[in-house]
Amino acid sequence: MHHFKYRNNELYCEDVPVQRIAENVGTPFYLYSHATLKRHFLIFNQAFQGLNRLVCYSAKANTNLAVLKLFANLGSGLDIVSGGELYRGLKAGFSADKIVYSGVGKRIDEIDYALDKGILMFNIESLEELELIDKRAGMLKKKAPIAIRVNPDVDPKTHPYISTGLKKNKFGIDIESSIQGYKIASKLKNIQVIGIDCHIGSQITESKPFEDALESIKKLITDIINLGIKIKYIDMGGGLGITYDAESPLHPSEYARAIVKSLEGMPIELILEPGRVLVGNAGILVTKVLYRKASREKQFIIVDAGMNDLLRPSIYKAFHAIEPVLKSEEKTIVADVVGPICESGDFLALDRKISNAKADDLLAVMSAGAYGFTMSSNYCSRLKVPEVMVKDDRFEVIKARQTYEDLIAGECIPAFV
Ligand SMILES: *Cc1c(COP(=O)(O)O)cnc(C)c1O
Repeated sequence: MHHFKYRNNELYCEDVPVQRIAENVGTPFYLYSHATLKRHFLIFNQAFQGLNRLVCYSAKANTNLAVLKLFANLGSGLDIVSGGELYRGLKAGFSADKIVYSGVGKRIDEIDYALDKGILMFNIESLEELELIDKRAGMLKKKAPIAIRVNPDVDPKTHPYISTGLKKNKFGIDIESSIQGYKIASKLKNIQVIGIDCHIGSQITESKPFEDALESIKKLITDIINLGIKIKYIDMGGGLGITYDAESPLHPSEYARAIVKSLEGMPIELILEPGRVLVGNAGILVTKVLYRKASREKQFIIVDAGMNDLLRPSIYKAFHAIEPVLKSEEKTIVADVVGPICESGDFLALDRKISNAKADDLLAVMSAGAYGFTMSSNYCSRLKVPEVMVKDDRFEVIKARQTYEDLIAGECIPAFV
């Protein structure tokens, strides 16, 4: 459930008409609902009530400082994948001991930064990374708390680009080799083994893949404990899906039930890294129709948001519902909704049944709160769009639209040119 609803055929975000914001900030822009973000976090967190757990919001889904701060205020931890996300997380007020650090390609400077700040744990994705972290921790006279990210080889039945827990994926250490990893880790002087981690993919809509992953991991934990190694945390990663179109993903409470049942009797703390499920349906991208045209085969609605603003349709063929900000009596048509970029892959929707929008009409690209702004780029020297947050009847720009000066910031022309 979210707070983007029609009143008298006009789209509102909470108590603010979307059109009013468009008049104020121009288009395109991302728009987030405070109430939805808060609600999603509370529902997710409360689903695990009674269990020792830390929900670590996965920053990469939406890293705006205001969004991060909102979750920090609610007691969330943070799952990061870069030094930049650590910087943002600390700026937003997360305490370092609630931050877990995942990712296959952690650099030395990023490792040092995280060690210096004293994060909760590193999720290790290779033996070479383990050795490097041990070495850096030694140099900085720290002990590095780690979990090994295990790849349980389960099929999350999602888009191949967002499945991460198959043997052929680059993530984690395969489950057979991971016991060796734990043996090695337990002997390293500057490493403290505290957990086990897995993240099998994204936009997962059924419970089976999660249950399968947990089953494999539980077996592994028994083996690890038998080696005399203590495991305090199981990090189950993220991956719970949302409704973009007609999907019916399991509810956080069903997800929690499946996990809690599998964990019964295990004296262990749970870490969860939800991203999309918290922010996806809490945001929309508002865009304006620039032109209409028809070829012999197709109708096109050309809008002012492109693949540089919202990449998901182009790279995942992802579906985003597109709704008119002002509903009219017009009949629906079938059209491609395309952006201004010089690529055939630049579309928001293909062959979509959509209201017959004309130039200057506003459209809302729904479910754009996750992997929307964070995946945007300056391709074609297009300015990054602003982000706006609504709370009740107020709205505020939480990231300003870029300017042409921003676009060339840091560039210089050498004298030898
Ligand atoms: C991206 C990511 C997440 C969040 O995934 P969602 O599908 O958005 O919930 C969690 N953990 C790790 C390690 C990730 O890379």
